[in-house]
Amino acid sequence: MLQKNSTKKLQAAQPAAQKPWKVPYLDMRLGYSQQREAILARINDVCSDARFILRQEVEEFEQRAAKFLGVKYAIGVGNGSDAIYFGLKAAGIAPGDEVITVAHTFVATLAAIDRCGATPVLVDIGPDFNMDPEEVAKKITTKTRGIVPVHLNGRCCNMEPIMKLAKDNGLVVVEDAAQGFGAKLNGVNAGGFGIAGAFSFHPMKVLACLGDGGLVTTNDEEVAKQIALLRNHGQENKTNLKQYGYNSRLDNLQAAILLERLTGLETALARRREVAGVYHEAFKDLAGLVCPLPPDSGPYHDIYSSYVLCHQDRDSLAAHLQQKGVEVFSHWSPPLHQQSGLNLTPVSLPMTEQLSAQVISLPVFPEITDEQVEYVIEAVSDFCGR
Ligand SMILES: *Cc1c(COP(=O)(O)O)cnc(C)c1O
Repeated sequence: MLQKNSTKKLQAAQPAAQKPWKVPYLDMRLGYSQQREAILARINDVCSDARFILRQEVEEFEQRAAKFLGVKYAIGVGNGSDAIYFGLKAAGIAPGDEVITVAHTFVATLAAIDRCGATPVLVDIGPDFNMDPEEVAKKITTKTRGIVPVHLNGRCCNMEPIMKLAKDNGLVVVEDAAQGFGAKLNGVNAGGFGIAGAFSFHPMKVLACLGDGGLVTTNDEEVAKQIALLRNHGQENKTNLKQYGYNSRLDNLQAAILLERLTGLETALARRREVAGVYHEAFKDLAGLVCPLPPDSGPYHDIYSSYVLCHQDRDSLAAHLQQKGVEVFSHWSPPLHQQSGLNLTPVSLPMTEQLSAQVISLPVFPEITDEQVEYVIEAVSDFCGR
C-alpha cells in the first residue's frame, strides 16, 4: 500500500489537465517534467549519502557558475535577497551611508540596503527600465558610498558610465543581477562589473531551483572570503569563529538541481531570445505599443527573463489578454517610492511612475510552443487593431 502510494506520488504531474490558461505566464511543471529523471536521480544520490549542508554539489555548482559567468568567485547563499545584502556588507556598506538605486525593482533591492543601516537614494530609469546614469550623477553626495544597478528583465544596465561614476567618486558597485543570469554587455556578464553581483534562483528566475537559492559573484578574494563567512555563521572552519554571521547557505539539494539545470541553460536562454525576436517582429509596428529591443541590439546580449511591453491603456490590454486565456503580469505598480510602508524620503521619479503604469509582461518561458507564441501575438494584435 505504502509502496503503491509512493509510486503514485512520483508520477509526473499532468500539466495539461490542470492548466487554466491557454498560455500561462510560466508553467514550472514543464521544466520539471522534462528533467524529471535526471533531477530525481540527483536528489536520490544526495539523500542516499546524506549530503545536505555545504557539500560537494554546492562547491561544484559554485565553480561551474563562476566559469559560466566569467568571474573568479561564486558563493552560494540562501536566496537572492541575502545575496544583495551580503554583497553590500562585504563591500563595506555601513550605517549612515547612502546607496543609490532605482525604485523600479523588487522590494528586496531596497531592503538589502536598509538591512545595512544605509539609506536607499532612488533615481529614475530610462526607457529600457534600467537605472539612468545621468540621474545617478545628480544624486551623489558626500554620504554616498555605493550604487546598486538592477539588471531588470534580463538586460544589463548601461554599465560604462555607472562604473566611471563609481570610480571617479570612490563608490562601490553591487549589482542586483537577480534577473540577469546570462545577460551580457560587451561580452561581460551581469555580475561581473561591480565589486559583487547578486543572483537569485527563485523558481521564477531564468536559472531556477526548486525553492529558494542565491549566489554572490566577485573577482575580489577578500570579498569572496567575507561572503563565505557571512553565509555560514562567521565560521572560517569548525574551530575558528571570525565574526558573527548568518545561516544563509545554498542548500546542497538545490545545488544538485541547479547543476542539472545549468547544463540546459544555454538552450533555455536561446529559446527565450528566439521568442523575443518573434514577438519583436510582430509588435514593432503595432499602434500604441512599445516593445523591447530585439535580441543582439548593439553591445547588449539580453536574455528576456521577462518580456515587457508598454501600453497607455495597460489595464484594458491586460484584461483583454486574460480574457483570451493569456496570463500576464505587471511588475511593479504602484512603484516602491509610493509605498508608504517603506518610509522612504518622498521623491519624484517621472519615468518610473509613467512606465510602471504602462508595463505588461507577456509569457516568454522556454517551454512555450510556437503555437502559443502565435496565439499571444494574435491576442495582442487584435487588441491594438481595434
Ligand atoms: C527575485 C529578485 C530579488 C530577490 O531574490 P530572492 O531569491 O527572491 O530573494 C531581488 N531583486 C530582484 C530584481 C529580483 O527580481
